[in-house]
Amino acid sequence: MNINSDNKNKDFIRDIVEKDINSNKVGGKIITRFPPEPNGHLHIGHAKSLCLNFGIAQETGGICHLRFDDTNPTKETQEFVESIIDDIRWLGWNWEEHLYFASNYFESLYHFAIDLIEKGKAYVDDLTHDEIREYRGTLNEPGIESPYRSRTVKENLDLFIRMRSGEFGEGARVLRAKIDMESGNLNMRDPVLYRIIKASHHRTGEAWCIYPMYDFAHGQSDSIEKITHSLCTMEFEDHRPLYDWIIETLGIHHPKQIEFARLNLTHTVLSKRKLAELVQDKYVTGWDDPRMPTLAGLRRRGYTPAAIKNFCDRIGVSKRQNTIEIELLEHCGREDLNRIARRVMGVLNPIKVIIDNFPEGRVEELEALNNPEDLQAGVHSVPFTKELYIESDDFQENPSNKFYRLAPGQEVRLRYAYFITCVGLDRDQDTGEIIAIHCTYDPETKGGQAPDHRKVKGTIHWVSVTHSVEAEVRIYDHLFLDERPDQADDYRSIVNPNSLRVLKSCKIDPSVAGALAGINYQFERVGYFCIDNIDSTSDALVFNQTMPLRSSWAKANTYRV
Ligand code: ATP
Ligand code: MG
Repeated sequence: MNINSDNKNKDFIRDIVEKDINSNKVGGKIITRFPPEPNGHLHIGHAKSLCLNFGIAQETGGICHLRFDDTNPTKETQEFVESIIDDIRWLGWNWEEHLYFASNYFESLYHFAIDLIEKGKAYVDDLTHDEIREYRGTLNEPGIESPYRSRTVKENLDLFIRMRSGEFGEGARVLRAKIDMESGNLNMRDPVLYRIIKASHHRTGEAWCIYPMYDFAHGQSDSIEKITHSLCTMEFEDHRPLYDWIIETLGIHHPKQIEFARLNLTHTVLSKRKLAELVQDKYVTGWDDPRMPTLAGLRRRGYTPAAIKNFCDRIGVSKRQNTIEIELLEHCGREDLNRIARRVMGVLNPIKVIIDNFPEGRVEELEALNNPEDLQAGVHSVPFTKELYIESDDFQENPSNKFYRLAPGQEVRLRYAYFITCVGLDRDQDTGEIIAIHCTYDPETKGGQAPDHRKVKGTIHWVSVTHSVEAEVRIYDHLFLDERPDQADDYRSIVNPNSLRVLKSCKIDPSVAGALAGINYQFERVGYFCIDNIDSTSDALVFNQTMPLRSSWAKANTYRV
């Protein structure tokens, strides 16, 4: 497939939605929803679902609701609710006034349960959790009906009302749908609808001690909100017959459920449980560690919302299980940053250069472009002084054949400045290590051009020793060594020990001194960087590398889907 950022992939879901609009199947607006469970932070997989749900609403003039599926009080917190809201806002999606919580529907859901009982379609079961599992049977064996299945409507109503009032202990009884213990679909073998949990809920407090199962809350919440298209990931395909059964038995609004494949990324895990373990076991510093595939991590790393949305457009939506190369995400990041990042020079591994024929104390202000991709972005001045830093690997004492940068007797161009020639070296008397490189500069080559048109083969970046600012720079690599950490016996055993490298005394162009978090920079010839939004202070700057400047992947221009 050719990648073209302007070509919004039409997918099978958008086709269905379009058909439903054209055939007048939906009376009014298209209504979709994004239904996170507030038990973790959002990651790049959620971004795929966000872009699909909010994207379709935006493209069709519809609305997308944000609904927290907060039906499990033991795992969910207000902190997760807030971080999820913050991340979706940051991505730039807007739910207007349509912020909902499944917990606000607890009363309605309770009445749906009463309705099912009255219709003879649900019963209170006293079997234990383990017994229910044993009785359920397997794919090859039919289940066995519970001895409590034949309770009368009156008895069931009485018991269920008493379950609600808190009379029974946790786990003592459940409410189950009465469907078919011999169904080929295990989800249809009298699934549990309600259980007793004596825990405080982050929104409803102590009001409830019975909580609906996800499968009893999700479909009805969609129905209550008059969702037209309920888009889920593939694992819900086998649950669809149950949702259909409940909704039809209750006779309420029936959203159209369509399943699509989850996003998987190479070198990455996207299960909330595994991400939480990485945090707990301190493989990373937190959910927002720049190596994490969370939206908070990607944002701290320097990814822009535009890059993430562009990535989601390009990967498309299908039913087929697939794994996207993480290099595509990096490519989308790089493409956006190339457009917007402010160029400065930054030296990560500095070595000193002394310009012997440049006057001591003189500061010459040279002009550098802020962004060659956007000339409107203007210029900034860069101070040129007698002592400079260059990248230590831009110098070789005994240059190899194709080494065109600085070497004894060899001339190079300093970006935006002058041609310089290496004329000598200072060494540490004890170790022999090179501590400074002596050069002369040609004052006729200001701006990087020689009047006699002589050529140099290399251009290198530099900063002034006296004017540059010092910074810590954090360089990241994949968090996992293997492409498919999910397939490893233990994904923790293949965490990349070099996924973070810290460079302590980098020297950066002084124009970054007042830099704010959220500004993206390109350090020329090196990569894209941003100020770390947590650890950086005005006295001790910390930069994160978003990604290096080039990837071998970009050349191929194709990717697997
Ligand atoms: P859990 O196991 O806790 O349910 P989850 O990753 O499914 O984890 P949810 O909060 O239920 O988390 O997800 C919200 C929405 O995002 C759901 O509609 C879910 O299908 C979708 N989603 C989650 N992970 C991915 C993924 N990797 N790719 C695409 N969509 C995803
Ligand atoms: Mg889920």
